[in-house]
Amino acid sequence: MDIPQADPHASYQAHKRDIDAAIQRVLDSGRYILGEETEAFESEFAQYIGTAYSVGVANGTDAIELALRACGIEKNDPVYTVSHTAVATVAAIDRCCARPVLVDIDPTSFTMDTECLHRAIMANNNGERGAILPVHLYGRPADMPSICEIAKRFKLKVVEDCAQSHGAAIGGRRTGTWGDAAAFSFYPTKNLGALGDGGVITTNSKDVANRARKLRQYGWRQKSISEEPGINSRLDEIQSAVLRVKLANLDADNAARIEIAHQYDSQLNQSYYELPQCPEGIIHVYHQYVIRTRDRNELQSYLASTGIGSTIHYPKPVHLQPAYMSRFSRESLVNSETAANEVLSLPMFPELSRDAVLMVAQKILSFIKK
Ligand SMILES: *Cc1c(COP(=O)(O)O)cnc(C)c1O
Repeated sequence: MDIPQADPHASYQAHKRDIDAAIQRVLDSGRYILGEETEAFESEFAQYIGTAYSVGVANGTDAIELALRACGIEKNDPVYTVSHTAVATVAAIDRCCARPVLVDIDPTSFTMDTECLHRAIMANNNGERGAILPVHLYGRPADMPSICEIAKRFKLKVVEDCAQSHGAAIGGRRTGTWGDAAAFSFYPTKNLGALGDGGVITTNSKDVANRARKLRQYGWRQKSISEEPGINSRLDEIQSAVLRVKLANLDADNAARIEIAHQYDSQLNQSYYELPQCPEGIIHVYHQYVIRTRDRNELQSYLASTGIGSTIHYPKPVHLQPAYMSRFSRESLVNSETAANEVLSLPMFPELSRDAVLMVAQKILSFIKK
């Protein structure tokens, strides 16, 4: 593709000198797992997000699993989440042996519909433990004020899936600070991307942070003594050192994404495509710039024929995936199914040039004319 949809290599190139130096520093230190770099990154990331604690782990899926477990979620507890998300969201709930309950999305924000959430809780809550796991999809925050209110009323925990929302905020308060805990992924294409896998849990609770620290390393608080069954999910020193470089550039990178989004908006607002919405008071960090249209497949083929990459996030909601479909009923997930047939993510990464954005927009407009 002449213009790729995402380009993690461009991000490495943009910060190559600092990243290479950071990696060399780790190589020379002789400490490769859970050392000074990870500790420094954890404290810098918590400070950036606005929580008291952050706990580095191996990837975003583990971050969700361990955040749920650290919040006390256990076997068969209901965890309310969405079907229009990365499969990882539901896979992580499964790993806790909790029971995923899928809730439909609002068709404009592509995030959890709070009325559907309320209905799902009325139908499934056993009055004991449980959690709500909203996903800030594409970089747009879910309706956290309403979700937190519902959680309080039904005594449910809230764990945010922030894998696509590093830096996004509602009323000046960042995603990752609203719930009892939150999970971030540092997969290379995310807004904050490592050069490999990585993830982190943020929380304001000392107990949740300590429990997550235990769970990420065989249940150890003190070396070689397992207080409860844990796993191995550690963030390594090389990724931590790289992430410290990238974190220092996150606000600038997000600002570049927002500017690209505004460019797309102004080029495409006369077309019949539905464009992303960003209400007052919300910071949308455009992990993806997603347009919506019924001729999505034709548009994607046309763009590909002109050398422009685009991606469908996601072609099948979780409840229609072969691995999961027998477990979920289709009723009441209509908005999720329609979205899967109509969404298309345009090229979006901080290093994408103004000219490239214009070129993509021009091609889309010329497709409409045909
Ligand atoms: C990327 C992603 C994950 C999983 O993160 P990994 O680091 O790939 O395990 C979870 N949820 C969402 C919404 C994601 O986009």
